[in-house]
Amino acid sequence: MNDLSELIRELSEIYDADSRDTYVSIYINKDANIKFLERREKACKSLLSGEEQKNFIITMEKIKEFLNINTGNTLAIFASHKHNFFKHISLPFKINNSLIVDSSPYIRPLARIKDEWESFTLVLLNSNYAKIFSISLGKVEQEKNLSADIMNKHKKGGWSQARFQRLRKGAIHAFFSEVKDALEKIADEQIVLAGPGQAKFQFSDMLSKKLKKKIVEVIDISIDDEKELLKESIHLISELEERKSKGAVQQLKEEILKDGLAVYGFDDTLNAVKNGQVELLIIEKDYKLKGCLCEHCQLLKAGAIKNCPNCGNPTSEVDVIEEILEFAERTDSEIEFTDDEEIHNLGHVGAILRYK
Ligand SMILES: [Zn+2]
Repeated sequence: MNDLSELIRELSEIYDADSRDTYVSIYINKDANIKFLERREKACKSLLSGEEQKNFIITMEKIKEFLNINTGNTLAIFASHKHNFFKHISLPFKINNSLIVDSSPYIRPLARIKDEWESFTLVLLNSNYAKIFSISLGKVEQEKNLSADIMNKHKKGGWSQARFQRLRKGAIHAFFSEVKDALEKIADEQIVLAGPGQAKFQFSDMLSKKLKKKIVEVIDISIDDEKELLKESIHLISELEERKSKGAVQQLKEEILKDGLAVYGFDDTLNAVKNGQVELLIIEKDYKLKGCLCEHCQLLKAGAIKNCPNCGNPTSEVDVIEEILEFAERTDSEIEFTDDEEIHNLGHVGAILRYK
């Protein structure tokens, strides 16, 4: 997932200031009908001319070469021959096929995936066995196994009960320390802790404050129910995400009511995001707004204006919501997509601010 975050951040910082249509963004399903690509390619090619068309043709050659080798994957690809740029990421589930030519990579579908499929760390443990999973985009990306030879609960002959218990406790403590060290290295922002009995609570008591705060759920489950646990935790994280986006809208409403740290509607949100004031950007899921961007002076406006009112250069047509998103990524804002009706009524987009 951190690959995804890094990729989005990198893509958000790219734009071609001299020429409009130099980046090709493709989202393509693994079982996509290749006709879709041919049709879009033909249409885009016919609309471009000169250097932009040349760049498009060579860029598409490279993309098709890549797709030939990587059949059977659902992919997002961002490329520009002119800028010697080629990035891709494979996605573990269906997306809408699209091909977009623009002055910057089209990141909105990726940003939505990041929002909806938050990565997390899953720890399954008992007193002598632990498994740590990193789950990203709904799939296990990495796992680490740890186990320890811990004495059986029942004492063997010779030792006093007290001595036996002390040794056993010490051994478990040492094992949990080992798990803690491993977890510290790979823990994501959200941790789900699971396992049978009391072990998981004893373990959690040993964690640093910082790590403890990241635990979003504790699941009581047998150590052998790994498959079920994975399913349950993925479901749980997606529920949490839904609650989070509802909470974000609620927070926005409250801030607006007390005239606090919030903006809403296109113009005010755009200004805030450009100023780096946005802590949390909230966007209606499928809302797009046609607008224009002056690549020359970066003026961005809703509606179609042929020439920039600021510098007179010709503008290009953009989805201004995508542009807001790119500004937000560049300034490390969090982004929530929601289909909550309230955000629709508030002008499709709004933000909680860092300061006013
Ligand atoms: Zn301008």
